[in-house]
Amino acid sequence: MQNKTFRIRGMHCASCASIIERTVKKIDGVEYISVNNGTENAKISFDKSKTNPDDFNKKLEPLGYSLIFPAVQPLKKTEKYMELKDMRNKLFSLIPIVLVSIFVMGWDLLAQFKITPEMSAMWSDFFHYLLPILATYTLFVVGKSYLLGLYRFFRYGKANMDTLIGLGTGVAFLYSFIVSAFGESLKSFINVNQSYYDVSIVVIAFITLGKYLEARSKLKTGDAIEKLLNLQAKTALVVKDGKEVEIPIEQVVHGDIIIVKPGAKIPVDGIIVEGSSFIDEAMVTGESMPVEKKVGDSVVSGTINTTGSFTFKATKIGSETLLAHIVKMVEEAQGSKAPIQALADKISGIFVPIVLGIAVVTLGLWLLIGTQYLGFSQAFSFGLVSFVGILVIACPCALGLATPTAIIVGVGKGAKNGILIKDAAILEKLHKVDTVIVDKTGTITKGKPTLVDIQNLSTWQVDKFISVLASLENKSEHPIAHAIINYTKEKSINTVDVSNFESIKGKGIKGTLDGTEYFAGNAKLMQDLGVMFDVSQIEKFTAQGKTPVLLATKEKVLGFVMVADEIKAESKQAVNDLHKLGIKVIMVTGDDEKTAKYMAKLVGIDDVLAHVLPEDKLIKIKELQKEGHIVAMAGDGVNDAPALAQADVGIAMATGTDVAIESAGITLLGGDISKLVKAIKLSKMTMLGIKQNLFWAFIYNLIGIPIAAGLLYPIWGFMLNPMIAGAAMAFSSVSVVSNSLRLKTKKISGIE
Ligand code: ADP
Ligand code: MG
Repeated sequence: MQNKTFRIRGMHCASCASIIERTVKKIDGVEYISVNNGTENAKISFDKSKTNPDDFNKKLEPLGYSLIFPAVQPLKKTEKYMELKDMRNKLFSLIPIVLVSIFVMGWDLLAQFKITPEMSAMWSDFFHYLLPILATYTLFVVGKSYLLGLYRFFRYGKANMDTLIGLGTGVAFLYSFIVSAFGESLKSFINVNQSYYDVSIVVIAFITLGKYLEARSKLKTGDAIEKLLNLQAKTALVVKDGKEVEIPIEQVVHGDIIIVKPGAKIPVDGIIVEGSSFIDEAMVTGESMPVEKKVGDSVVSGTINTTGSFTFKATKIGSETLLAHIVKMVEEAQGSKAPIQALADKISGIFVPIVLGIAVVTLGLWLLIGTQYLGFSQAFSFGLVSFVGILVIACPCALGLATPTAIIVGVGKGAKNGILIKDAAILEKLHKVDTVIVDKTGTITKGKPTLVDIQNLSTWQVDKFISVLASLENKSEHPIAHAIINYTKEKSINTVDVSNFESIKGKGIKGTLDGTEYFAGNAKLMQDLGVMFDVSQIEKFTAQGKTPVLLATKEKVLGFVMVADEIKAESKQAVNDLHKLGIKVIMVTGDDEKTAKYMAKLVGIDDVLAHVLPEDKLIKIKELQKEGHIVAMAGDGVNDAPALAQADVGIAMATGTDVAIESAGITLLGGDISKLVKAIKLSKMTMLGIKQNLFWAFIYNLIGIPIAAGLLYPIWGFMLNPMIAGAAMAFSSVSVVSNSLRLKTKKISGIE
């Protein structure tokens, strides 16, 4: 089995996506295919032993599409610009042609109402011969792809938007051509003074204009990745044999010592070994304040050094860097499909054949019924106008753009603000979240506790007591352990090796020292051990939000220390903002209940669950989901992975370079909980944008088709001119894409 992403050439519309999907799915060995109209990518998983990409192309090329492999990543922008330039040139060539058409049309119209005199015979003849020539150029040169669509329809029976336009303008042209050529002999059947060259010219001009504007805006919606790639430095200043040499970024290897001068970009990820500086990480984390970094701190590629100077050791290069991860993730998310798109896909898949049917039936009805009232010549002329009008106004191209362009903008906007979204489905789900579960340590608090109190109840000296405790903690990764180890380092207290170390999930740790088994952990652990301990001794501290760590043997408690963690500056505001969005916030923690309640109260959290084991977090989420809540869980992603996976939306708080990107649906860079509020607002904004887009995409078709069919004619004598239909179609796509672009520049409380 192989999973590959291909770029697609030749895509125009939503129905293209469904044609490609259906064609490739039929190939033996293809397991799954998803085509994205926004990014023009196809994700295909297939059995390597049964088929290969050449097979796909053999089937697709006759239909006018081709897959480019291996996936050119990222989107080749120059190629897109070339296409755009080509479109623009064609568009310019149409300007004089359209002006001439409008001039002739206008004169005819004004003459009909006796406002201007009839055109002189000489001019009339001149235009009589000129218009067919102009229409031929327009249809066969500028509108070639529509005629190809028509050809494919007759050859393979596959219809897409090009087919509709091709059929509409082609029929208008063919009819006019027949009238000009055989007018004399047809005089008695049809109105031979009426030709539709101008219709095919103006419709193609409008559709081309629409496509050009659409392509131009589409390029803009997807520029987030390019901006990210531009952050990447091209070279690095490396120390080699005691000398500074500038080498291309590709040649940097793990362990290289790299010098960063003031104002320079950091080329790869690494750890500072000398010097210190403030680093502007805004481009990666969305945080505007430069961050101070000292020896031992990690630095990330793509960020910018301010005034200091330092050297660092390269630890992550090439595709391993945080920036590379971000680019990959944004790219994949932008190419993924939102569930809301399934409906649009289904509709556009059946739309084209249905519209063809409606057009044919309408023409038939005009001939059948219209002839009785208006005579054949007039009815045929109206029927033809309806036929062309329906085909032109019904193109589902805007429909195919509605969701992907908004998703591309939403995901890109997220990345710019340090919010990494895994896929479109997550972005869609996020706006429905009504309950947020937050982990205490590292999410609400900084996750960097310090030791603040010591109560030694043993007969040992205090240093000995701390030394035993710290020796146990030496083997633990918990933030609490770090607090205790840091304290011993400050006070130069020695630690020794313990044997039989084990951590007791959600409660603490144990280990053997000099033949005695020691335990360190919370009050619950003491209860489990069955040692006597008067909880009132720690309540004074827990009531202040401090976390107790008790040291005990199987027989008795030897004493305890208190560690305190600071609440993050943004926590309170974030909780407040979540409440304003109508979202319930619940804090879960393995910590002491009093400690947790104190912290919760400080930040305004409604509900606290303390002494919770990691698996109980998962059970709590399941319970809430059963009650019908849509639950988001924010945690550090380390011991919360199962809960993050169970939640409808798992949110990982990333700090530094360790990004738990894979396990979570959303990663908040810089570990900033206030970004959760932004992410939810972003989701709401994107979903609203998609709904608006779908409205704009549908409204023209819904209103346009009946009018084009001539439904209003019996009532008001009004027919939809196919040229207006062409303009409406163009406007429909343009309004969808510009609505998505509007989201891009729209600011919602701090989301840029
Ligand atoms: P949380 O992430 O909410 O702190 P954990 O399951 O990681 O949840 O830990 C639960 C509790 O177990 C901690 O609050 C602490 O009381 C105790 N504990 C865990 N690890 C240690 C340790 N290394 N030393 C002392 N106590 C610990
Ligand atoms: Mg934890």
